[in-house]
Amino acid sequence: MIYWDHAASTPPYEEVIRTLTEVMNKHYGNPSSIHQLGGNAVKLITRAREVCASALQVKSSEIVFTSGATEGNNLAIKGAALQYMGRGKHLITTTVEHASVYESFLQLQQWGFEVTFLPVDSHGCVTIESITASIRKDTILVSIMHVNNEMGAIQPIETIGTEIKRCNSRTLFHVDGVQGFGKLPVDLNRWCVDLYTLSAHKFRGPKGTGILYVREGLKLTPLLTGGSQEFGLRAGTENTPHFVAMAKAMRMASVRQTSFTKDVSILRDRIHGIIRDIQGLHLHSHESGAPHIVHFSYPGMKSEVLMHTLELQGMLVSTRSACSSKHTKPSRVLLAMGLSNEEASSGIRISLGDSHTEEDVSQLEHALRSAVEELRPLLEKGRN
Ligand code: PLP
Repeated sequence: MIYWDHAASTPPYEEVIRTLTEVMNKHYGNPSSIHQLGGNAVKLITRAREVCASALQVKSSEIVFTSGATEGNNLAIKGAALQYMGRGKHLITTTVEHASVYESFLQLQQWGFEVTFLPVDSHGCVTIESITASIRKDTILVSIMHVNNEMGAIQPIETIGTEIKRCNSRTLFHVDGVQGFGKLPVDLNRWCVDLYTLSAHKFRGPKGTGILYVREGLKLTPLLTGGSQEFGLRAGTENTPHFVAMAKAMRMASVRQTSFTKDVSILRDRIHGIIRDIQGLHLHSHESGAPHIVHFSYPGMKSEVLMHTLELQGMLVSTRSACSSKHTKPSRVLLAMGLSNEEASSGIRISLGDSHTEEDVSQLEHALRSAVEELRPLLEKGRN
């Protein structure tokens, strides 16, 4: 089996699994307890926070540990909207965000906020003009993802951040950085980012843990209340083993980012060439997109059929983002990116990791060519 679904989740590093097990075994004290074991847990969490902060070149007091990016996105968006509603009730996002962002905005609409959903161009990118034209005096937050999880489109985050602050210095900028961290350079200060979400299982850390970066001085209304953990932003006993293991993965991913981008882009370009060469396949991802995401369709053939045909040949790909793979309707994101209904219903995502080799790509090519050959008669029969 070759696993081509790294945008859905990545295999944890061996070191991460070892760290996780060791901390679970030895450091099970509650960080709120005032005895030795509690104190040890506090020390470990403090160190983990410093490591994560240093990977992002920010202060450790700006790192809030969460249960993952779904929670981080909810806390950033709803927490900022509720906290700053005195300044205005207007919010901006795009039509291609992950469900955890998109649904947060839909809920805020129901709570009386006004949301502008910006469209994207054929490369999946928002235009700077559309952002500047939408920002108003009462715009409290703009939320735009760094890298799209279905298509790999990279948003021009630095220009967006600069323009937001030029138009209204009080408007907050949130970035869902889940698919960008470890794959592309990140510079939160230069990008003028106020809130930034990460998920550990996308950079070879454990599942169920993540980070929300909250710029110093910013306040958020917490969504979970109770104890005063995580600077009062997230009540609940800290998940010491996961936070420590995530910090390990984060350091490793940030050290390896440059070589990841270079090596994986070469394989991605080769896969793009193969897809372009197979008659009947439509390539949707671009060379200008993220190094680890390839998206294509076999119009007329349901994604699930091609996916399972590839699976029988040992290739594990995905039909769409993992969180919505059980929905039957074509992806909202792909339609917003300009794909036809037919293309969106037959979309396949291949997402790469740092362990893939040229040999893996050769096996993928073989599997793709024979899957298309096998399915073509079915497709033609269906059309006649
Ligand atoms: N944002 C993006 C862009 C994602 O790809 C994902 C996961 O697929 C999430 C948010 C949600 O992350 P988590 O699984 O940590 O809740």
